[in-house]
Amino acid sequence: MRALGYANAAFDLLKRSAIPPYPQFYELLYTYATGVNPSLNNRINAVFRSGTSPSSDLAEALYNEFLRSDMTERMSSVSERMHARIESVHEAIDAAMTTANAYSGSLQSATGDLERDLGGDAMKDLAARLLSETRRMQDTNRELERKLEASRDDISALQRDLDDVRRESMLDPLTKIANRKSFDEGLAHAIAESEKSGAPLCLMLVDIDHFKTFNDTFGHQTGDQVLRLVAMTLKSNIKNRDLAARYGGEEFAAILPSTDLQGAIIVAENIRKAIQTKELLKRSTNEKLGRITASFGVAEFNPSESASTLIERADQCLYAAKHAGRNRVISEDELVEIAEIPTKDVSAA
Ligand code: GH3
Ligand code: MG
Ligand code: MG
Repeated sequence: MRALGYANAAFDLLKRSAIPPYPQFYELLYTYATGVNPSLNNRINAVFRSGTSPSSDLAEALYNEFLRSDMTERMSSVSERMHARIESVHEAIDAAMTTANAYSGSLQSATGDLERDLGGDAMKDLAARLLSETRRMQDTNRELERKLEASRDDISALQRDLDDVRRESMLDPLTKIANRKSFDEGLAHAIAESEKSGAPLCLMLVDIDHFKTFNDTFGHQTGDQVLRLVAMTLKSNIKNRDLAARYGGEEFAAILPSTDLQGAIIVAENIRKAIQTKELLKRSTNEKLGRITASFGVAEFNPSESASTLIERADQCLYAAKHAGRNRVISEDELVEIAEIPTKDVSAA
């Protein structure tokens, strides 16, 4: 719901401004609409206040300054280098082929000459010509070999870079745990495994309580530290086979394979207690920031349901946990109980 609101706001801004609707400009205005990047918002607000309509040059500059990540940079660098390498190999192959064609033409004409009766001088001439053509052919081949050799080393290095970039593209840059993309892949994989083996599978969603107030009180950067702390707490309280991910802004998720609902509730309780126990200190000043809490929703996978219905149920549990007062774990079993609480029959009274 909230995401849809931001999306609509970003679209409206795009429509109203002179900025072309490229994906990166949409991303820019979407980020503006969410307000998660105050310095970006200050800059854009100043532009709006000045009454000038933001140009695509300005949008590009803002995108590069605030959103173009190290990752985008590195991705395009790897891809540019890969491109240049392939180009140079193509050129070398083209050159080799041209020389080879010319050589084959020379051989053909030499065959023709030899079929005629050649005098001693003409024979010498022909031999000299063939020798020089052969040398040229050898030179081009050596050049091709050299280029291919260099490319092989280069391509191995590029391969390693690409692997690094791919690995990092699965991580959330702030908390260094799995991002939404790897969560989606991980959940699809866990569901397939559970359907194959029949082992249970649980999903836990976590949302920090009153985090907006925390940010407003202590600042966004301190808020970021808290996000890192919650991510680490989540990660250190689950097993290796589980997957902890940053699901959205201040929402996290854990995929728990081979774990039934009771087991997942215990894990969630442990994490909940671990989070509320931590006393927060501001790194720069050691100022005490109190404690934070989080709410949890836990649901178990039903064979043959989709990932989205499982997420939806866990989300309903999370919502119920918020509604019931926050800092608690609600599982789908309790959700059923809550739904079944009989309402007072007024007519009987
Ligand atoms: P609730 O207990 O109902 O969850 O209240 P809440 O304030 O946590 O919920 P709300 O969704 O209103 O606010 C979420 C806040 O999370 C707003 C936003 O400033 C903050 N947030 C989201 N992403 C980030 C981030 O990357 N860094 C920081 N510091 N804050 C973020
Ligand atoms: Mg939230
Ligand atoms: Mg919250």
